[in-house]
Amino acid sequence: MNTLVIRNVRPMGSEATSVTIRNGRIADYGRNVEEGAEVLDGAGAILIPGLVEAHTHMDKTLLGMGWYRNEVGPRLIDKIENERTQRRILGIDPARQSARQAVLAASLGTTHIRTHVDVDTEVGIAGIEGVLKTRERYRDIVDIELVAFPQSGMLIRPGTVELMEKALQLGAQVVGGLDPAGIDRDPKGHLDVVFGLAERYGVPVDIHLHEPAELGAFSMELIIERTKALGLQGKVTVSHAFCLGMTDQEYVTALIDALAEARIHILTTAPASRPAPAVKRLTEAGIVVAAGSDGVRDTWGPYNNPDMLERALLVGLRNNLRRDDEVALALDTCTFGGARMMAIDDYGLQPGCWADLVLLDGETLAEAVVSRRPRKMVLKRGKVTARDGVAQVEAP
Ligand SMILES: [Zn+2]
Repeated sequence: MNTLVIRNVRPMGSEATSVTIRNGRIADYGRNVEEGAEVLDGAGAILIPGLVEAHTHMDKTLLGMGWYRNEVGPRLIDKIENERTQRRILGIDPARQSARQAVLAASLGTTHIRTHVDVDTEVGIAGIEGVLKTRERYRDIVDIELVAFPQSGMLIRPGTVELMEKALQLGAQVVGGLDPAGIDRDPKGHLDVVFGLAERYGVPVDIHLHEPAELGAFSMELIIERTKALGLQGKVTVSHAFCLGMTDQEYVTALIDALAEARIHILTTAPASRPAPAVKRLTEAGIVVAAGSDGVRDTWGPYNNPDMLERALLVGLRNNLRRDDEVALALDTCTFGGARMMAIDDYGLQPGCWADLVLLDGETLAEAVVSRRPRKMVLKRGKVTARDGVAQVEAP
């Protein structure tokens, strides 16, 4: 039996104790050290479950590549078309780039990632194949879930639906979608394909919905209808959902009630420059709210990094979360919220859960989020994968 004891850790910032990990899972807390066990010193660190990156695009990050000079037009379609061109010019290798992000994310305490991978008639399923390689290669440091993502639209580019099917057959675990009205300009057609694939392949749905205000609300209502009609409650996520940040509060209330009833999850990046869903209000309505970095340093924008503690800070800032319990709620979107959205089995700090753990330097949870110091230790299924902010494996 493989036993590891980490002494002097504070689960979620509570009293110091020791945690015993056996065969990759949390066995118990506060027990005497058994003979033959490996012992590590937690030095009073806060113990939290692994951070969950619930929305990113690992296949097209520019991490480790030269600086990309961004001169892209303002519309969504400008960014989409520019990216397809730049992918060729810059030689963005999905396997190499996703590996770089996987290792960096692990060093920052992320143990689970949902990544949307482009599927289109130019790249085909090369992105899926590349990220699948990374998923396999780094399976001992991070779990990666792939969404087959029709970034360039489906119905406006014939042949994409067939490629989406191929991606799902090859190992993508989630079917994605994108602005049913804004990009395909055929909301019913787009969503019928997405939900049809979900039904046929028995996979969850995660739809990028950037459409603003009433247009977004209209698409969201179509998503809610289909979720209920197909019995997909608890298996559908709407990413971004900017329409929930619109000014018509009565309409927002009605949407929140309908989302809660259909058990649809909401993913936010807590954007600084767009209307955004109100995290606390959604959580209080019983909706699972998760957080993600979205694109990390790509042709869309230069800013993001995959640090989910920083994302918690951004969620807090965007939502005016100031009290300690509110900062803890912001962090929750980057841990338990993501885990519930992705239906991760045996996640958490309870005995029996996988020992996917992060030791945070900080006085309290809120202080750890605000200071964002290098992660003292990260474990994946009971094995140390990073120390003091440095991953134990190398990136390409
Ligand atoms: Zn995205």
